[in-house]
Amino acid sequence: MAEHYVECRSCGQEVQVEDPDDQVGDDSIIRITCSCGANLEVLYDRRRSFRLFVAIRGKFQKATSSGGILIKDLSAHGLRFDTQEPDCLAVGDKIEIEYHTSFSAGKSHIKRRAEIERVDGRDVSASYLD
Ligand SMILES: [Zn+2]
Repeated sequence: MAEHYVECRSCGQEVQVEDPDDQVGDDSIIRITCSCGANLEVLYDRRRSFRLFVAIRGKFQKATSSGGILIKDLSAHGLRFDTQEPDCLAVGDKIEIEYHTSFSAGKSHIKRRAEIERVDGRDVSASYLD
């Protein structure tokens, strides 16, 4: 049985997500509670991975452009976000994503490279390159 973890957006610790049983279909929302008391909503997606719903402001950077983003979910493979600058982004583009998380343990600055997988209006999905 595979073990899955998501990062709690309140305290920053890793919380284990149980494998859903067979009744749970793709794109189901699973609610879990962290030991710190925070309630987390996790999407069990078609790729059999878990995506944590968040609302974190950040930015993307490309060779020629940059813009603000609102990250909507995070998984081990990538992220999904809204941007005001969708015209700057195309499938296959390599970008750098930057955001801050403010967990009780202290602020951490996240910077990761990702490749755009899908652009649907302002809604963009990207997968991590490293
Ligand atoms: Zn927590």
